Amino acid sequence: MTAPTSTASTSPAPVLRFAPSPTGLLHIGNARTALLNALLARREGGTFVLRLDDTDRERSREEYAQAIVADLAWLGIPPDVTVRQSERIALYDAAGERLKAAGRLYPCFETQDELERKRRLQLARGLPPIYDRAALALSGEDRARLEAEGRRPHWRFRLDHRAVAWTDRVRGEVSVACDSLSDPVLVREDGSYLYTLPSVVDDASLGVTLVVRGEDHVTNTAVQIQIFEALGNAVPAFGHHNLLTTAGGEGLSKRLGHLSLQGLREAGLEPLAVAALAVLVGSSDAVRPVASLEELAALVDLGHVSRAPARFDEAELAALNARIVHEMSFEAVAPRLAAMGVGGGAAFWEAVRGNVGTLAEARDWWDVVAGPVVPVVEDAPFCARAAEALPPEPWDAGTWKSWTDAVKAATGAKGRALFMPLRKALTGRDHGPELAALLPLIGRDKAAARLAGDTA
Ligand code: GLU
Repeated sequence: MTAPTSTASTSPAPVLRFAPSPTGLLHIGNARTALLNALLARREGGTFVLRLDDTDRERSREEYAQAIVADLAWLGIPPDVTVRQSERIALYDAAGERLKAAGRLYPCFETQDELERKRRLQLARGLPPIYDRAALALSGEDRARLEAEGRRPHWRFRLDHRAVAWTDRVRGEVSVACDSLSDPVLVREDGSYLYTLPSVVDDASLGVTLVVRGEDHVTNTAVQIQIFEALGNAVPAFGHHNLLTTAGGEGLSKRLGHLSLQGLREAGLEPLAVAALAVLVGSSDAVRPVASLEELAALVDLGHVSRAPARFDEAELAALNARIVHEMSFEAVAPRLAAMGVGGGAAFWEAVRGNVGTLAEARDWWDVVAGPVVPVVEDAPFCARAAEALPPEPWDAGTWKSWTDAVKAATGAKGRALFMPLRKALTGRDHGPELAALLPLIGRDKAAARLAGDTA
C-alpha cells in the first residue's frame, strides 16, 4: 500500500455572507438565504459574514438589527463576522470617486417627475422605458447652472451595453443583456448610497467568494459584475435560489411580517425544523427531519435547487416539527424540560414525546401527571372497583397490564369499555400517551383519588 499523499489545497477558504437590511423581521424565505450561505461556509470550513445593509437610514432600525442577530443565533448559525454598512461609508465614497474618475459614475439632475414623464413618453412610443442618458450630454456649464438653481445630482453608473454572463451555481449559464437596462442610480441626491455599490465594495473588501441570494437579484448581479470589473476587483461566484411563497402563492415580505422567524419561535417550533424546511423545500431532497445542522449542511446542493418558486406550507412545518420532536433524546431536551418546570425524567419524556407536536406541549402532559387533574368519571361504581384493584407500589411499566387484567376480571369490561373510563378518570382526557407509561408517574395516591372523582 502506498502512503496517502497530502494535497495542499490551493483554493482559498470560502467566504459567504447574508446581507439583510434591518427594515423588518426575518421571515422563512430570508432564513433560506441565510442558511444556504451559513451551511455552505460551515461545510467548507469557510467564513460566514453577517452584513447589515443599513444605508437606508429612514427604514433601518436597531431593534430589527438585534432581532436578526437573535434569529441567526436561534437557527444555530451565528455569524463569524458582522459588519454594518453604515460604518463603512468611507469605503463607498472612495469607490465612488474611482468610478467618477473612470467616467463610469455620472451626475444626473432629473427630478422624479421628469423621469416619470420620460418614461410615459417612451412607453407611449412603444419604446422600453430605459433611462435615455440625457445627463451624459450635459456640459460643465449646464451642470453649474443646474447646481446654481439648487439642484443636487444623483449619480448613475454608466453600464457597458453588452451581455454579462456567468455560470450560476443554481441556474447554470446565465446571460443578461445590459443594453436593455437603465444605468442604475448608485448615489442619491442627499449623497446616501443605494444598495448596489456598497454591496460590491463590501463583497470585494471582505473577500466574499460566493454570493447566494434570491433570484430577484439576477439583474442586480449583471450590474454588480460590471461594477466589480470597473473597480478592478475579482468577481465572486453567484447562485440565485428560487423564492419562497406563502401556501397561497403570495410572495413573502419582511415589511408585512410574513412568517417571521420570531413568530415561528414563539409558536414553539424547533429551529432545526424551521431550518430543514427552509433549506429543503423546493429541492430534489424530500423535506425530512434532520438530527443536526451538520446533517442538513451535507444535503445542501445548489445544483438541485428548483427553478420554480417553492410554497411554504405551515402544516408541513408543523408535521416536520412533530417528527423532529418525536426523535429527540431525553439528554437533548432535559435542560429545556427542566426550564419549563417539567419533571419525571427520562421515563416521562419517553412516555410523551410521541404525543407532542412541539416541546412546549410536554408541559401539558406533565400537568396531567403532576395534577391537579379534574377527573372525568362517568361510571362511578366501575371506577370505584378499579380503584380497589390498584396494586400496592412500587409501580413499573408492567403495573398497567396487571391492574387492568384485574379490573377486567372484577368487572367483565374489556377493550374500549375497559380502557376509556380509566383514561378519562386518570387524565381527565379521552386521548394521550400510553397509560402503561403514565401510570407509574401518576402514582397510587393520585390515581386512587382521581378514580374516586377527586381533583388531584
Ligand atoms: N440587502 C439586500 C437584500 O436584502 C442584499 C442582497 C444581497 O444578498 O446582495 O435584498
